[in-house]
Amino acid sequence: MRILVAEDELDLQEAIAEGLRMEGYAVDTCDNGEDAYELAFVEKYDLIILDLNLPKMDGLHVLEKIREENKDVKILVLSARSSVNDKVKGLDMGANDYLTKPFDFAELEARIRNLIRRKFVQENNLLTCGNLNMDLTKRISCVGEQELLLTKKEFALLEYFLLHQEQVVSQEELMGHVWDQNADSFSGVIRVHIASLRKKLKALLQDDPIRTKIGEGYYITNNEGDA
Ligand code: CA
Repeated sequence: MRILVAEDELDLQEAIAEGLRMEGYAVDTCDNGEDAYELAFVEKYDLIILDLNLPKMDGLHVLEKIREENKDVKILVLSARSSVNDKVKGLDMGANDYLTKPFDFAELEARIRNLIRRKFVQENNLLTCGNLNMDLTKRISCVGEQELLLTKKEFALLEYFLLHQEQVVSQEELMGHVWDQNADSFSGVIRVHIASLRKKLKALLQDDPIRTKIGEGYYITNNEGDA
């Protein structure tokens, strides 16, 4: 899942970005409204964390402009303004959630999980595909009772596949959602991570649930005959 953090208080921006990266999210950052607006169009974010008091362009204005073009991206507004008025305004303008500063990181993370789940219309935090399952809250994936020991990137890839079961996902899409701007945008990198993920899945499942569609991408399936 790829997230943009638009926050001009650099200590806070860094703390949020670092915390989310530790949880396996791909995170980009910016410190003003103009960049936030521009990045929101250039990159494919699943979620934008948007501070309201931003230099160059006010957060509410950024929110309004993003929403004119993009109704899908989830936007969580951060603000030191605790007035009910601002909150209502933000939500009216299309923010999906609102958090008043200061807040606990755990609270932010819970809100993010909730928004991402809503994005994919998940009813709970469990994703399954045959014997394979993933707990998004605990950030663990298992085959039956046995835990799959995955790196953060492998986990993020598997999460993306499981959220899009039976759908072909291209390398570009994976690049856009699982990697951040600092990543080496070289498709070989994805292949290496996918190869290693497949090896781990096959070791526990005796079968590789990820299929390659030549020239198009990958998909995960529970249908054994589907090759
Ligand atoms: Ca600010």
